[in-house]
Amino acid sequence: MNAADDKTIVQDYFNSTGFDRWRRIYGDGEVNKVQLDIREGHQQTVATTLSWLTYDGNVSKLSICDAGCGVGSLSIPLAQDGAKVYASDISEKMVAEAKERAAAALSNTDNLTFAVQDLEALSGRYHTVICLDVLIHYPQDKAAEMIAHLASLAESRLILSFAPKTLCLSLLKKIGSFFPGASKATRAYLHREADIVEILKTCGFTVQRQDMIRTRFYFSRLLEATRKSS
Ligand code: SAM
Repeated sequence: MNAADDKTIVQDYFNSTGFDRWRRIYGDGEVNKVQLDIREGHQQTVATTLSWLTYDGNVSKLSICDAGCGVGSLSIPLAQDGAKVYASDISEKMVAEAKERAAAALSNTDNLTFAVQDLEALSGRYHTVICLDVLIHYPQDKAAEMIAHLASLAESRLILSFAPKTLCLSLLKKIGSFFPGASKATRAYLHREADIVEILKTCGFTVQRQDMIRTRFYFSRLLEATRKSS
């Protein structure tokens, strides 16, 4: 399968069955136990990212690109804290849902821009580029190109999360819960941390902070990397 096919499958999935599933997981309504576990894991990933960003006390001065923003789980609180946020996703349904949630949660959405866009077509420069739980849709041989593109948009910092390959055996057993039933049409790709760190290094970035978020069915390695000069 070539990269274009992979992408079309992901896009179609997040505009159909994937949209219904992930909108519920990333919401607060009733879900099954597995989905609840994934929701809690993902919430920890978002909370850790927010804590790193707020630690320095300058969120309101930051321009942030949230690449593959989903339903806005990270973009909305960042905009609420005053950051200038550019949020985009390849799925128009996810972006429409994110817009709705932003309108409901924020009194003012002037500093939050949404777009339906493939992250590899993004342009511009942002202080911080963030891409949470998207690399799972990228095969290993496509990760370098994707990360290099995100790095080219980042003036100072890149925050990425991915399902680590070190947990491969236990994870593979559970991977069915990432994309159950008909939605198994989308593959989940794991990445070796050493590969990701090496790609970041080649792009001129060094890892500063890291965390591993792990629940029963959710695994996410979270890395913050900054440009060597900053
Ligand atoms: N980052 C969000 C979060 O953590 O709440 C959403 C994570 S969700 C598992 C993955 C998202 O990545 C989906 O909304 C999907 O449409 C998006 N996505 C996948 N491939 C993409 C691409 N090439 N460009 C932009 N978005 C993409």
